[in-house]
Amino acid sequence: MVVIMKVGATESQIEAVIDQLNDSGFDVHRSSGSQQTVLGAIGVQPDYDVRHIRLLEGVGDVHRVTEPFKFASRTWKKENSIIRVGEVEIGGDSVTVMAGPCAVESEDQIEKTAAHVAACGATILRGGAFKPRSSPYSFQGMGLPGLELMRAAADRHGLHVVTEVMDVAQLDSVLPLTDIVQVGARNMQNYSLLKSLGKINKPVLLKRGLMATIQEWLMSAEYMMAEGNQDIILCERGIRTFETYTRNTLDLSAVPVVREKSHLPIVVDPSHGTGIRNKVIPMARAAIAAGADGLLIETHPDPEHAKSDGPQSLYFDQFEELMRQISLIAVAIGRSVGQVQTT
Ligand code: PEP
Ligand code: MN
Repeated sequence: MVVIMKVGATESQIEAVIDQLNDSGFDVHRSSGSQQTVLGAIGVQPDYDVRHIRLLEGVGDVHRVTEPFKFASRTWKKENSIIRVGEVEIGGDSVTVMAGPCAVESEDQIEKTAAHVAACGATILRGGAFKPRSSPYSFQGMGLPGLELMRAAADRHGLHVVTEVMDVAQLDSVLPLTDIVQVGARNMQNYSLLKSLGKINKPVLLKRGLMATIQEWLMSAEYMMAEGNQDIILCERGIRTFETYTRNTLDLSAVPVVREKSHLPIVVDPSHGTGIRNKVIPMARAAIAAGADGLLIETHPDPEHAKSDGPQSLYFDQFEELMRQISLIAVAIGRSVGQVQTT
């Protein structure tokens, strides 16, 4: 931590700050110029609350130089983490596409979607069985029977499954049926859920909260990693800003920021990130160009009649076009997109 004393701070104020830092276990290096004194506090204390120092008389500014997260940080692990789901590697050279409807609605819907996304080169089937809807009167998802339909459809087409868990109580029944557990934006700071997911041995797709800073998001990953689960995939899905022409503001700068701060893979969800079907392909292109390790895309055989998020769900031909375009961009940056099935 670096403490910059105000111009004109008195010797006794400086000494009070040094005493407080020493009492808290820091070694202090003092550097006094003709105008100002700067104190360097050495010692790793990720949970130290810098406001203790900020409030002292004569203190101008305080900067933390180490991150409050450890296992999620690039300092802890230098090389990129690659998360394996069967033969799929998330965070490696290839770009992983997870695609499917917002919610599982019927056997016919999920079967058609699985067949289509697999044929286009996606390797993971998405779909909510338990839906976190903003209104209690909206479709809440099919629950476990929906997840069973999705598992069967995924297996028929050689796909893996990602689905959301909203509550610790759902874990026992959901875990045997999914390959990746999704934590939704609204649950990013549900710490009891995160702690439970830290104890499972399946990867977790952690969506960024609607109002979360990147640091808060990485701290949520840290919750699970501190409990033992190192297989965390981050998902940027847009944050709430003052903009109203899109559903959320897709923060693509999160991709290079996360890349610098963390070794964890990051995927981008332009469906929730924009909320509008015709904005999804451009932002998917941009996400891959920015270095995302994958995409989470909503697509539906009949978006007009979808029970949730129809307006942001791609028509099947649009999904095919998205895959074609991102394959070209991936090649331009030395990557590839999951295999197109030949059977
Ligand atoms: C979803 O993926 O369908 C979903 C509900 O996403 P989010 O939690 O990002 O809103
Ligand atoms: Mn959705």
